[in-house]
Amino acid sequence: MHYTINNLLSVNNEIEKKSNNKTNIIAVSKTFPIEKIMPLIEHGHEHFGENKVQEAVEKWSNLKKNFANIKLHLVGKLQTNKVKYVVDLFDYIHSVDNIKLAMKISNEQKKFNKKPKIFIQINIGNEIQKTGINKNELRNFYNSCIELGLDVIGTMCLPPDDGKSELYFSEMKKLNDNLNLKEISMGMSADYLNAIKHGSTFIRIGSKIFGPRS
Ligand SMILES: *Cc1c(COP(=O)(O)O)cnc(C)c1O
Repeated sequence: MHYTINNLLSVNNEIEKKSNNKTNIIAVSKTFPIEKIMPLIEHGHEHFGENKVQEAVEKWSNLKKNFANIKLHLVGKLQTNKVKYVVDLFDYIHSVDNIKLAMKISNEQKKFNKKPKIFIQINIGNEIQKTGINKNELRNFYNSCIELGLDVIGTMCLPPDDGKSELYFSEMKKLNDNLNLKEISMGMSADYLNAIKHGSTFIRIGSKIFGPRS
């Protein structure tokens, strides 16, 4: 069996033991070539993530035509001039955090007659270097997204790397519940077990499945 499948299965086993709700595993394949992704697709895995639009268009445009069940997730920063490619190719966008971007997605999804599922990214640790909306602005921003016709399904975060991820994950869960949202995108290779403890429904796993990125 290909090593990526073994890795996926062991992550899956761990989370099934520990989580009550259904957790989806997004295999984050950024920087890895199609040859490394193919075994997982043939194994039947559905959720894949990329963080760069150009790389995703090159790798996934044909793959998605051939494997219609694949769901592609944009987990990285999105610039407004790339939105048209993203609405066409991606099924989920995890990084919506400003009104200009929300307006652009609203316009493009009308043109394509296709609504990607949206996560609002929250800057949960208030870090100046990180993107994401401030939690104090979350409700207003959420309301604007709904008025613009965006299909907001949940919130997403990249917590600070300070060993306190559980604190941030539990705060995320509260913010998400306050908006009555069903999905939360949180947890990566280093912290997904903590994330599912606090109700994550989409974990984004890169290196734990594909190995280290060079
Ligand atoms: C790369 C990336 C991941 C996966 O990271 P790993 O630590 O390799 O699991 C998850 N989320 C985002 C936003 C990423 O850019």
